[in-house]
Amino acid sequence: MIRFYNSLGREVQDFKEINDGKVGIYTCGPTVYSYVTIGNWRTYTLSDFLVRTLEFLGYEVKHVMNITDVGHLTGDNEGDSSTGEDRMEKAERKEGKTAWEIAKFYAEDFINGMKQMNFNLPDVLPRATEHIEEQIEQVQEIIDKGFTYETSDGIYFDTKKFEDAGHKYGELSNLDKIREGARVAINPEKKNPRDFALWKFSPKDKKRHMEWDSPWGIGFPGWHIECSAMSMKYLGEQFDIHVGGEDLMSTHHPCEIAQAEAAKDVKFVNYWIHGAFLQVDGGRMGKSLGNAYSLHDIEEQGFSPMHLRYFYMSGHYKKKLNFTWEALESSRSAYEKLIKILSGLKSDDNIEQNELKENSFYKQFAEAISSDINIPRALATIWEVLKSDLKDELKLALILKFDEVLGLELRKEMNREDDLEMSDEVVNLIAERKKARDEKNWELADSIRDKLRDEFGVTDLQGK
Ligand code: AMP
Ligand code: ZN
Repeated sequence: MIRFYNSLGREVQDFKEINDGKVGIYTCGPTVYSYVTIGNWRTYTLSDFLVRTLEFLGYEVKHVMNITDVGHLTGDNEGDSSTGEDRMEKAERKEGKTAWEIAKFYAEDFINGMKQMNFNLPDVLPRATEHIEEQIEQVQEIIDKGFTYETSDGIYFDTKKFEDAGHKYGELSNLDKIREGARVAINPEKKNPRDFALWKFSPKDKKRHMEWDSPWGIGFPGWHIECSAMSMKYLGEQFDIHVGGEDLMSTHHPCEIAQAEAAKDVKFVNYWIHGAFLQVDGGRMGKSLGNAYSLHDIEEQGFSPMHLRYFYMSGHYKKKLNFTWEALESSRSAYEKLIKILSGLKSDDNIEQNELKENSFYKQFAEAISSDINIPRALATIWEVLKSDLKDELKLALILKFDEVLGLELRKEMNREDDLEMSDEVVNLIAERKKARDEKNWELADSIRDKLRDEFGVTDLQGK
């Protein structure tokens, strides 16, 4: 049994899936107008831990993560998708490229980043621009149910009508936490500050690079509609788990729920998991503060994505985590030390899965990940295994098994150490053999050749 904190009930709850043994998960992915930051990566790594945990426990998981490649307005951050500047258009001006080029570039960079971070890649990575039809369809359903009104700049969701019909709006967060954002004064046509755009009309005097025809006029979808439309397309009208950063609890997610439930009149998602924010040097991370580091910045400073992954494991996902370069440095030391120790352990591929499962450390590990995805505790189990008096082969087998959840690429990195060690020795032997040949000591040269072949599998010695 796995339990985790459900933002909907505001408590840790036992998880019960809709379809036996199968779990549908949707994660709100990035808006691809610039590099994904280490803050975003923290949230996506949480999704990866969740997916791997469920698979470890025997569930069959379908994970969908959207890629927002439509420009939405900066007002989104204030909980109002009807105001502010279009992020993609802002990037267009800055980079001198079209929104399409920008989205393509950063989406590819993001997918590469997921591979570098050793994610189990989501089963579907739907892009908003490829699902305009589904979004228009869902807006139409909401219009047909009578929960919308039209203003001069778009089609809006009417939160009051939705509540009058017996639905709840903003269940995920305290209502007063739902930021009222731009006030009626800024957008006087909105009936209620909480109402949000489902479809925005393109400005009359300007052609946007990204715009589509719709039954209501040329324009582009509001920020929230892609997630309710695409999650339902791939996971069904009702599914198990929805993941995102904690900011979305009072901005984007209440709108997603309202849209989905207005369109289908059924409960949308059973469990909502929200990850706490990553801070940098004890404060907010932001582009304007110059500390919104990307994976590239991390690598430029000589760290690997695995060091970052290890760093994320130092805090539970419901608690804020503070990034500093010193903290990353400590994670690197711990990670490299771990690889070194593991490389020195004898291995035995014949250890049975049952023997692992019966081990008390295995039970401790499974308990940690099942208790609200407690990755820090799961990681600590690895070090306890290493300190224990289990035999080497069992230690190694257990830890490699745990890495199915932790995703630290332990096996691969251990082999890297092996390769390095072997090549050092091989390089020395080859040099010794050359010296022996130069000295015409054929006997020694031949014995070294045999040793290279028999012990290291090196046979290609021509010219060496
Ligand atoms: P955005 O690109 O701003 O829409 O964010 C994409 C995802 O990253 C969302 O789930 C956000 O909640 C999450 N996110 C943004 N900033 C942070 C942060 N500093 N720490 C953790 N998650 C974040
Ligand atoms: Zn979303």
